Amino acid sequence: MKDAAALVKNARYLVALTGAGVSTPSGIPDFRSPRSGLWENVDPFEVASLDTLRRRPAAFYQWLQPLVALMRAAKPNPAHLALAELERRGILKVLITQNVDSLHQAAGSQNVIELHGSFRSATCLKCLRIVSTAELMDQVIATGEVPRCSCGGVLKPDVVLMGEMLPPQAFHRAEQAARDCDLLLVAGTSLEIAPANNLPWLALQHGARLVMVNRSPTDLDSRATVLIRDDVATALPAILEAV
Ligand code: ZN
Repeated sequence: MKDAAALVKNARYLVALTGAGVSTPSGIPDFRSPRSGLWENVDPFEVASLDTLRRRPAAFYQWLQPLVALMRAAKPNPAHLALAELERRGILKVLITQNVDSLHQAAGSQNVIELHGSFRSATCLKCLRIVSTAELMDQVIATGEVPRCSCGGVLKPDVVLMGEMLPPQAFHRAEQAARDCDLLLVAGTSLEIAPANNLPWLALQHGARLVMVNRSPTDLDSRATVLIRDDVATALPAILEAV
């Protein structure tokens, strides 16, 4: 922790990359994980796709209902709060996340790049109108019904579904941050999902050092200057404390 804190404190341009592991202490399961236990007999890779949303919107929203309910109830945990505090102190410059639950913003983080979008808005598949989801998602939670645009089209939450491209602008900004940083703090991501998992390699190529906080091993562990094998909700506040 002390080594990580020293690197963080002396970083010229600190960037963080977070994944599902940062939200699991807030009660949000990694929906790509078959071990999440939230859905039985459902393949997230099949149901969480644009194809399913188009052809079987009811099945899509049935799958989504419990996840949205958990996100609605979730509060930022100490990992989110520690990252927000690092930004407030001017140390953390950019926070790149694969999470779609807006918990970093709820914790107070401002400069957040959401690689996989968010549930704050939705787009009509028919007329492409973009709407805020504040009430729509409550309706999904309560009824499980498919939310529709005033034109009758099915609404798609503005999150990256399986097989979809990342929003190009967000990814370009993330690549730029990876090139600019001299220290990349990777937290709660197993780095299994492309192209987000390329960002640490990009940072390394441009001379950055890595601090990794993750429960499970990753391909990048051997390249990390500091590797912390602990819960992010314990480790990140401990690093902040030592900064
Ligand atoms: Zn519409």
